[in-house]
Amino acid sequence: MKPRRPGEWTGGADWETVATRAEIDLDAYQHNVRALKAWVGDSVEVAVAVKANAYGHGAVPLSAAALEAGASHLAVATVDEGVQLRRGGIVAPILVMGSLEPSQAAAVVGANLTPTITCESHAVALAAASVSQGVRTPVHLKVDTGMHRNGAEPTAAPVLASIVQGLPSLELEGLYTHMACADDHSERGRRCTQRQFEVFLAARAELLAMGLEVPVSHVANSAATLSQPEMHLDMVRCGIATYGLYGSEDVPRSVELRPVMALKSRIARVHDLRPSDGVSYGHDFVARGRTTVALLPIGYGDGYRRCLSARAEVLVRGRRARIAGRICMDQLVLDVSDIEDVRVGDEAVLIGQQGSETITVAELAHLAETIEYEITTSLGSRVARVYLRGGRAVGLSTLNETIPQLRNGDEK
Ligand SMILES: *Cc1c(COP(=O)(O)O)cnc(C)c1O
Repeated sequence: MKPRRPGEWTGGADWETVATRAEIDLDAYQHNVRALKAWVGDSVEVAVAVKANAYGHGAVPLSAAALEAGASHLAVATVDEGVQLRRGGIVAPILVMGSLEPSQAAAVVGANLTPTITCESHAVALAAASVSQGVRTPVHLKVDTGMHRNGAEPTAAPVLASIVQGLPSLELEGLYTHMACADDHSERGRRCTQRQFEVFLAARAELLAMGLEVPVSHVANSAATLSQPEMHLDMVRCGIATYGLYGSEDVPRSVELRPVMALKSRIARVHDLRPSDGVSYGHDFVARGRTTVALLPIGYGDGYRRCLSARAEVLVRGRRARIAGRICMDQLVLDVSDIEDVRVGDEAVLIGQQGSETITVAELAHLAETIEYEITTSLGSRVARVYLRGGRAVGLSTLNETIPQLRNGDEK
């Protein structure tokens, strides 16, 4: 029997029966990864951030697609996320960027993950786990150059690096830092990024002066990748840009990115209200004249934020319909009074395009007073993910089913 290719779907559940779903355009995603790879050039590797379920898009299928499109590394936040990718059949290097507890060392080594080291206790625990499992573990040392979140003090980095060097079961593969203000191009933001870069280069120079090798230096997230080519170094770590989102108005559109996620549902009920009829909890919405409302089976329990109540619009029959009253946990109601002939079963687009209208993630982020990251990451597991190639469904992930189920060894 032939092994299945990642992304191939030969049958199973009928995705058309899922009313509320996020459609994930794998072609757009791979276009973005390839475009970023072309932008940074052959000598720079691309690590894609697939933490938080690939920003809500689905960690395993997007990891497989990213690797196929030229990414060399995957980056996650937690050990558990790394293990999820391994169980999903991903064999590429996986950098765990979050903080580590020494008790997690055996799991990190067992799953062949690449941990981030910020202090001696990490190095000692990882070395012991590597010795007991009879393997050598690559590690990346993270320096806190000014974000003051995670990382070793710049002054402590050389000592930590030499401790790692002295542990034969560990291999110092990378040195990195994370920028606090790369998506802010105000005078203050630029100065902060420049300063962090200088602190990083100084720490790196010190390691090199001690005779330590640092094969992979990396500092750039999506914003720095798109705006500061001199900061690409050996590898960039891109998350938001791979999903087709620029993340901030300040980030230059150096690469043409395509949106990857669309959020859709179908109308479940249409009915007319009489003047003074209220809608949803608290009757915040009250019908004035002749009003027609439509029901959608999606709510804040799916991650469609409650603060969008009465603010956001949804596309129905190519037109914008405002949300009427409060978004509930599982449902919301639209005011479709101005749209002709709305019927049960009509497709509603909460994110994406319908006809000549488009609702972007940025629009919802603005209305919810948050960032694009939080909009896509918020989508919960109840929202089915439908994976598209060439406009056709090639994979599906619902609460109950994942098709195709990638197996170990499928992904090279
Ligand atoms: C999430 C994350 C990234 C990716 O950031 P984007 O802004 O989505 O490109 C890079 N590096 C670290 C350390 C991260 O936590």
